[in-house]
Amino acid sequence: MAEIEQLRNCRMCPRNCGVNRYHATGYCRLGALLKINTWQKHFGEEPYISGTKGSGTIFFSGCNLTCVFCQNYQISQLNSGKEYTIAKTADIMLELQADGVHNINLVTPSQFSIQLIEALHLARKRGLTIPIVWNTNSYEKVEILQKLNGLVNIYLADIKYASNAAAIKLSKAPDYFNIATKAISEMYRQVGHIRLDENDIARKGIAIRILVLPEDANGTEALLKWLAENIGNDVYLSLMSQYYPAWQAAKYPETTRSLSQGEYDSAVELAEKYGFHNCLIQELSPSADWTPDFNN
Ligand code: SF4
Repeated sequence: MAEIEQLRNCRMCPRNCGVNRYHATGYCRLGALLKINTWQKHFGEEPYISGTKGSGTIFFSGCNLTCVFCQNYQISQLNSGKEYTIAKTADIMLELQADGVHNINLVTPSQFSIQLIEALHLARKRGLTIPIVWNTNSYEKVEILQKLNGLVNIYLADIKYASNAAAIKLSKAPDYFNIATKAISEMYRQVGHIRLDENDIARKGIAIRILVLPEDANGTEALLKWLAENIGNDVYLSLMSQYYPAWQAAKYPETTRSLSQGEYDSAVELAEKYGFHNCLIQELSPSADWTPDFNN
């Protein structure tokens, strides 16, 4: 259990708080136990993740980012949830597997990476066989991701901002682009591009998500250019259209309104310009399904 000792001087994410999580909390305001808001069979992820039987999502409380527009702020910022041990978390994974889901989908896991490494080892030992999805904001340390090598099968990774000024202003995330691009490069090194099984369900690989923001607050073109040049335009890409001004977004001129159709269309055109041929697009509606684009 040497890994777990790292909780006594928590540096598991780029915040590097150095607190003892058994007695204190750092930026994420979370202790040593895992904290989970809910777990369920979920059908709203990309079709190759949700499939027909659903994705076994576990929504972790807290986050190491503070996105002013977070649509799940009760969970991510107000830390709503209940604490669970590593053993109980492994049990939850096994319960979901017994319910027939395609995969175990760990949503916002970074602030519990060390505990999850232990939980995943335990769950595998107890019979967990389905793929593990690490569903992350990509504000991750490479040395922690290296400990997930071989444990995680699929990385579902956001890339949020090309501009560090925007990342600081809208997510309080210094050096986001530099940190996230190093993290995504490591994820890609571990698992490569998405491989599907005979039912078109992902077995392994990395998929990238961009939540398109109004006023091009992401710097979408710079993000797509980096991806094309460093990961390749074969990567599975999801351009998410569901932005609306939640939580504190109205305080910032860039994020005070929903995304316009023109802004979303521009992002789709840029993805086409950079040759992303495994791209999923959406209608401009929070409940819209995914539609594959550029696949011919
Ligand atoms: S996981 Fe939490 S306490 Fe640990 S370094 Fe990150 S923000 Fe700080």
